Order: sequence, then C-alpha cells, then structure tokens
Amino acid sequence: MAEISFKNVSKAYGLTKALENVSFTCKEGEFFSIFGPSGAGKTTCLELIAGIKGDYSGNIFLGDQNINSLSVQDRNISMAFENYSLYPHFTVFENIVFPLKSPRAKSRSEQEILEIVTKNATDLGISHLLDRSPSQLSGGQKQRVSLARALVREPQAFLLDEPIAHLDAKLRTVARANLKEIAQRLGTTIVYVTHDYREALALSDTILLLREGKIEQIGSPKDLWNNPLSDFVAHMIGDPVMNLIDGEIKEDNGKYFLSSKDITLEVPKKYLSQESMKKKNVRLGIRPNDLSASAGTDANANIKGKVYGFERKSNFFYVHMMLGDTFIVARSFNDKQLSVGTEISISFNFERIFFFQKTFEL
Ligand code: ADP
Ligand code: MG
Repeated sequence: MAEISFKNVSKAYGLTKALENVSFTCKEGEFFSIFGPSGAGKTTCLELIAGIKGDYSGNIFLGDQNINSLSVQDRNISMAFENYSLYPHFTVFENIVFPLKSPRAKSRSEQEILEIVTKNATDLGISHLLDRSPSQLSGGQKQRVSLARALVREPQAFLLDEPIAHLDAKLRTVARANLKEIAQRLGTTIVYVTHDYREALALSDTILLLREGKIEQIGSPKDLWNNPLSDFVAHMIGDPVMNLIDGEIKEDNGKYFLSSKDITLEVPKKYLSQESMKKKNVRLGIRPNDLSASAGTDANANIKGKVYGFERKSNFFYVHMMLGDTFIVARSFNDKQLSVGTEISISFNFERIFFFQKTFEL
C-alpha cells in the first residue's frame, strides 16, 4: 500500500487539455474518488497513475518514489476496468491464480499459491465459487472474482474506473454497498472514478472533483455537500439539483433583497456575507430539501407561485415551480391539495443558503 500524489500534472491530447496543473495526494489506505462529468479527465488520471499513458508534464509519486519513468509492470498498481474481463474458459480458481503463474510473478510453491488464492477468495466471500465458470456467476460475484485476481498480486493501490456504472439502478445500489464492504475489509488504497455523485458520497474518504481537466474542489463528502466552493460543485452534488437563482443584491430601507427579473426575495441581513453584499451579481443556491412548499398563500412565505409539476417520493413531494424563467424545486409534506396550477408558498431555510459567483449558464 502506498500514498499516491500528483504534483502539477498536465496532460494534453493534441489541442485537448485533458489535465491542467493537477496536484493532489491520495493517502495510504484511503478510498479516493475522482468525480466529474464525462470528459473531465478522470480516466486520464487513472491511466497516468497506472503508467499506461505517458507524455505528460509534472510529477507522479508512489509513496516518496517518483514513478514518472517507471514501467507499468514495475508500478504494481492494479487497474480494473468497467467489464470484469474474466477468462471465460477458466474456472474462478484459474482466473484468480492467473497472475501468480505469469512469467513475471515471483516463484512460489503450489502450496503457497493455493494458500494465497484461498485467502483472497475467503476475504471476498467467494471461496465456494472456485470451481465455477464465469458464466455461472452473478455480476457482483464476477466483480469479486476480478478483484480477487487483482489482489493476489498484492498491489500498492487499486484503480477502478466506473466499475459499476453499467449496472441498472437497483443493482448499482447493491454493488455500491458491496464495494464499500470490500474496501473496508481490504483497507487498500483505492482510486475510484465515477460520474455518479451518490457513489462518490457513499464510498469516499476524499473526493476530487474535476472540471475540464482542472480541480474544482477536493474534500470529504461532507465538505463537498456542506461547503461547495463553486456553483459547479453545488450543481454536481444532489438530486434534485440545488436551486440556483441569479440576481442582484439590492438594499431598500435597511432591508436586503435578491432581485432578478423573475423574483424578489428578501434575505435577512444576517445571512448575507459581506462579500455577497458587495457583489452586484450573485447566484444564490439552496437545496430543494431546504425549501418548504405548502399549498395556498402563506403571508410569511418567502416566495409564492403556482405548481408547475411534482414528483412523488416516499412520504413527500418535490414540487416544481416556474417563476418566469426561473425553475425552482421545493419539498412539500402536505400533498393533499396539490395539483398543477395550485397556488403554493415557499419558505426558505436561510441557514442553508449559499452565495456563489456564476461560472456557467443554467
Ligand atoms: P473522463 O474519464 O472524465 O470522461 P477522459 O480522461 O477520458 O475523461 O478524457 C479527458 C479529455 O481528453 C476529453 O476531452 C477526451 O475527449 C480527451 N481524450 C481522452 N483520451 C483521448 C485520446 N486518446 N485522444 C484524444 N483525446 C482524448
Ligand atoms: Mg472515463
């Protein structure tokens, strides 16, 4: 096991800058996620760690060793791709034992080899499957076999590139739980690529959020959720996504308003930072769960409008509202009178508002 760090790493493909000046440290034993939309540079990061892509600038370290010029084979890093690529004509045992029999593997007695395979299969809960062929396994079992095969090499770190992205939503939840359990059991350094914020939040010790080859934020799941550093981070994390309302902060008789062409929202002064009061243009963010919608016109509500649509959840609704061009989603627990066109009132939990600078168009 070892720490992995990038120091000012940049990688281009022709004119495309896949990574720009990326620096981070993934600590030993950490579950470290690289998260971001498609094309952000996530896979490129993994390929540079594994050593299968060269021609970059900057430095990559494994522990305190600079591995820029180390070959793929000498890195002892294991990379699992989306498909588990098990050998279909081999049994589970033969698949797992494969790396130990390769010409590059250190020589071991048959007894030692058997012990290593048995231990890893037992650790992953697949020791009863050793005689089966891959076609007789479920997706989750295949995943474990492919992990066991990677593990027998005793890698310094595991790299996983969207390993469960191809599963349907229900299976993905199970696979995510499995991964969490496996990761905890192994305690190995894992660098995990995903474009799914739920996976990143559920699995990671640390999340690195990439945007167009640059680091947007690095932090714990809590940091990214509670303290998103940009509107982009806020927008990437949460479903329904955080409401973002663009406007100007205006003062009128000691009262402060976020004012846009669609909305005038009074914001109690204590929730306005010095910084946001100085700025003309701000982007206010608030998650749907921090907006409470109720039917009718409530004099104390912060904004009022009509129901545009809604989405039923287990014991509440997400109510959609359009105010001009501004789309707002709020949570409602009293669903009885709601239907499209119903008057609704929305109250803000101002404790949970964010102010951002606008960095992308909604
Ligand atoms: P992600 O895994 O986050 O989707 P990638 O690391 O695969 O992103 O790609 C980052 C950027 O580099 C993208 O713009 C992608 O089109 C480009 N890219 C990746 N691989 C190649 C390649 N072999 N040749 C040219 N461009 C590439
Ligand atoms: Mg990718």
